[in-house]
Amino acid sequence: MGLLDGKFAVVTGAASARGLGKATAKLFAEHGATVAILDLDQAQAEAAAADLGPNHVGMACNVIDKAQVQQVMDALIEKWGQIDILVNNAGITQPLKFMEIEPENYEAVTDVSLRGTLYCTQAVVPHMRQRKSGSIVNLSSVSAQRGGGIFGGPHYSAAKAGVLGLTKASARELAPDNVRVNAICPGFIATDITQGKLTPEMKEQVLAGIPMGRAGEAIDVAGCALFLASDLSAYCTGTEVDVNGGSLIH
Ligand code: NAD
Repeated sequence: MGLLDGKFAVVTGAASARGLGKATAKLFAEHGATVAILDLDQAQAEAAAADLGPNHVGMACNVIDKAQVQQVMDALIEKWGQIDILVNNAGITQPLKFMEIEPENYEAVTDVSLRGTLYCTQAVVPHMRQRKSGSIVNLSSVSAQRGGGIFGGPHYSAAKAGVLGLTKASARELAPDNVRVNAICPGFIATDITQGKLTPEMKEQVLAGIPMGRAGEAIDVAGCALFLASDLSAYCTGTEVDVNGGSLIH
């Protein structure tokens, strides 16, 4: 018996092969969920969904395009009859110093995390409210809590701090309808988000700050997402869960 038997889950930004979204989608599928992988490229989203096994769905969806997000969520509700779980995982980062942030950098990084989380959540909330059931998991970052310092610049910290604000305020508003919203704050996890720009010196410095002495694995984050998505966390809403090997104990 899986923790998510009979559940239908949407994970954004989940086509990246070594990413947190893909690992989460895979674990959800292993626990019985039917999963939709949304990402920018249709073929990559479909390939990632096919990796999970039959019945899973891959769809192109740019999370900052409100109309497209609504269309995709409506199509999934039509196909499945329900969406039980949404993981707002799509995100990008850039290693810029404060004075290097140009308007286009600010917009790119904050838009994917903030507009993306807002639009995807708005697109499923009426449905979840109506069913009086839903679990939404948002990807923030330790960068929001400690003021950056891993890879992403201040605009990334701001975007991820904004995700915590959205999480807590939406959790408060949606709680009466039994729609739960929680955030995960991963520390340094080995994925492709740094696009090969993490130098060996940067990596050494990051590892030195992790009491557990290792980078996180995507599955470490996926396990936490599974807990928050499932009924094991039925009385948790508005929480921020640290998955960081002890790199920020507060
Ligand atoms: P990743 O780069 O491996 O995957 C991110 C995915 O998001 C990619 O597949 C990309 O195509 C997709 N994406 C980007 N913009 C999109 C858009 N507009 N619409 C739809 N999809 C879009 O990254 P990851 O490391 O797996 O990170 C996943 C999430 O976790 C991100 O929100 C990231 O900020 C957060 N996070 C990661 C780490 C880490 O150390 N890896 C730490 C803290 C937080």
